[in-house]
Amino acid sequence: MRKAIGVDLGGSHVMAAVITEEGEILDRASEDITDHAVDKVVQAVENTIDQALSAAKGKSVAGIGIGSPGNIEPRSGTILYSPNFQWTGVPLGERLRAHFDQPVFVGNDARCATLGEYTYGTGKGTKNFALLTIGTGIGGGIVSEGHLVLGNAAGAGEIGHHQIRPTDGFICNCGKIGCFEAQASGTALIRHAFAVAPSFPRSTLLDKTRDKLGSKAIRKAAQAGDGHAVAAWKRFADDLATGLANIIAFVNPELIALGGGVSSAGDFMLEAVRGRVDELTTMVPRGTTRIAIATLGNDAGAIGAATMAFRGGLTTQASTSK
Ligand SMILES: [Zn+2]
Repeated sequence: MRKAIGVDLGGSHVMAAVITEEGEILDRASEDITDHAVDKVVQAVENTIDQALSAAKGKSVAGIGIGSPGNIEPRSGTILYSPNFQWTGVPLGERLRAHFDQPVFVGNDARCATLGEYTYGTGKGTKNFALLTIGTGIGGGIVSEGHLVLGNAAGAGEIGHHQIRPTDGFICNCGKIGCFEAQASGTALIRHAFAVAPSFPRSTLLDKTRDKLGSKAIRKAAQAGDGHAVAAWKRFADDLATGLANIIAFVNPELIALGGGVSSAGDFMLEAVRGRVDELTTMVPRGTTRIAIATLGNDAGAIGAATMAFRGGLTTQASTSK
């Protein structure tokens, strides 16, 4: 059976896994990243891939796929810019090709996760699909008619940075106001809790210091019926629904899968958005896009990166038809 190495490269951690063509993870190796200097990160990536390759015992490894944050030139695997690493023009693909015999492919991490979830997770069997990974930010990707959409400069799918509250929203890491990510990520839920706090002067919800305050605590308090948390959750869910309805208006996918840490809210989250999404779905026939929780969890990125290696790129069709 063919195997590939799928690598999930993040700002603080890199994980390389040996993955089969059925999307099964056989082995994994990981390293923390503490220094964003290019050489240090490349070294950590090489180390984990080396470990994964030795776990695979060198047998029939079809290729190496790396999912990395940033805007990435798909052919060369050059990272044009990555705010997470503060990199511009880093030839990651070329560096790794000099070190490994196997073909190397580099793609954006969220697009890799979309390809993974589409091929092996919740999206399996659909042709029109979107993934949103909702964590500290919002990443995503779109599959249209069986093709992952990359756009003219591999920039398509930056769903987190379409503005839904450009006049009264929170400021986004990208500099714009009211981006979907600024309004409907885990970080956004905390910001909504601060924003509604003046209406709840006796609330203890925000008593924890800011660095200890997580979105999960606010969501759980909302589930338990805490008034302050419920008010924050409602704003969060309304903004999430706005973004989801926009995605439906643009691409009317069969399914939108919600992944990332915040999606652990499960049905509580789905129930909070479905009604509002229907209200905001006007010209597209209602009920023609399902919304569900993604199933591959944190492994979606590595599995998608391996899928990219099996396929010989992010956008090519699978060699075996589904
Ligand atoms: Zn933004």
